Amino acid sequence: TMTNLNGKIALVTGASSGIGAATAAKLAEAGAKVGIAARRTDKLKDLKKQIEAKGGEALVIEMDVVDTTSVDAGVNKLIDAYGSIDILVNNAGLMPLSDIDQFKVDEWQRMVDVNVKGLLNTTAAVLPQMIKQHSGHVFNMSSIAGRKVFKGLSVYCATKHAVTAFSDGLRMEVGQKHGIRVTCIQPGAVATELYDHITDPGYRKQMDELAGQMTFLQGEDIGDTIVFAARAPAHVDVAELFVLPVEQG
Ligand code: NDP
Repeated sequence: TMTNLNGKIALVTGASSGIGAATAAKLAEAGAKVGIAARRTDKLKDLKKQIEAKGGEALVIEMDVVDTTSVDAGVNKLIDAYGSIDILVNNAGLMPLSDIDQFKVDEWQRMVDVNVKGLLNTTAAVLPQMIKQHSGHVFNMSSIAGRKVFKGLSVYCATKHAVTAFSDGLRMEVGQKHGIRVTCIQPGAVATELYDHITDPGYRKQMDELAGQMTFLQGEDIGDTIVFAARAPAHVDVAELFVLPVEQG
């Protein structure tokens, strides 16, 4: 039987837009109290209002996942407010596509910093609390790009493969030992702000064309799958969720 999330405490990174915002709203609808973390607090305040309008509860947390001081402060704010953390959704990430021979090294570093190091920072900050509780559920946002490699996405794919690998290892290390579940999420194309940060005009155009060729997923679709895995009975770990638009092939 599926459990309900009433009284559960969740932290969602990258909650100011896209998949993170939709997931936070879905978790709140399912009964969880949600810490919504990102850098753009104006967007988080709007989301908090939307969640409250539907009878849910949210705490705005200004957080840059790259900055460990900011991460620790944000996690402590949530623990101070509610006393536990049951669900962590490691979602913050970016995907500025380009070919390697364009040497957009700043963008490569940014992807490694946010998609990989940022995810490790929040995991390190939250895990001690989950270990203390001997329960918890960590969701790591990988991608179809964490399963296979595409041209123009080399560095992004490298970061998402790292997320997939780390999720698998984390699950093996904290499942049996600490009673913590780990789910690696691998979405295909989702309609979000992700593509807005592509600075390469060719890839920007390619992504716009892709959006014309198929019905993308919505952030809510991923939020629904996260709620599904979170609500699974305590002995069940939905270890991977590979979710695609039907037309993506
Ligand atoms: P969005 O661009 O809409 O959302 C990205 C989120 O990450 C924003 O809320 C942003 O918040 C946050 N973020 C970025 N940098 C930081 C930082 N340094 N600290 C804290 N938060 C940060 O894109 P999506 O919703 O699509 O992306 C969410 C995740 O889903 C990413 O990991 C992405 O790789 C993954 N994904 C997306 C797919 C898609 O097709 N859209 C497919 C597969 C995976 P702010 O700027 O306010 O800090």
